[in-house]
Formats: sequence, structure tokens, C-alpha cells
Amino acid sequence: MKRRRRPHAHNNAPGRMASHFTREGTPKNGYRTNAEAQSAAQLAWTLNGAELDTYRCDYCHQWHMGKRLRED
Ligand SMILES: [Zn+2]
Repeated sequence: MKRRRRPHAHNNAPGRMASHFTREGTPKNGYRTNAEAQSAAQLAWTLNGAELDTYRCDYCHQWHMGKRLRED
């Protein structure tokens, strides 16, 4: 009996901060400058208390926000 290999969906690497996609697999909002991304991150902190970092995306060359990784 042969087993078929299922193709894995590896479009979005999980757990990495520098991603173009959210965990849900949808593209993140992109900002043209780090300053714009940081002001959006600050807004998110004000509204939700979410600590977000900003990073340059290799995929779309814009800036995204991402959850700060804790390395204990
Ligand atoms: Zn991107």
C-alpha cells in the first residue's frame, strides 16, 4: 500500500517576527517608512497595550509591525 505524500503548506513560516504575513496568513499592513510603522505601533500600544516592534520586510520592502519576541 502506497501512501501519498501531502504537500506541506509552508507559505508563512510560523513564529518568525520578520514576516510579511500574519499568523492567519493574511498580508500585514505595510508602511513606507520606519517612522510610520513606529507611530502605528505606538497607537497599537495605546489602544491594546500591545508591545510591537517594527522591521523591514524582505518581501515587499516596506515596514511592518510584529510582536516582540521574548527570549528567556
Ligand atoms: Zn512585507
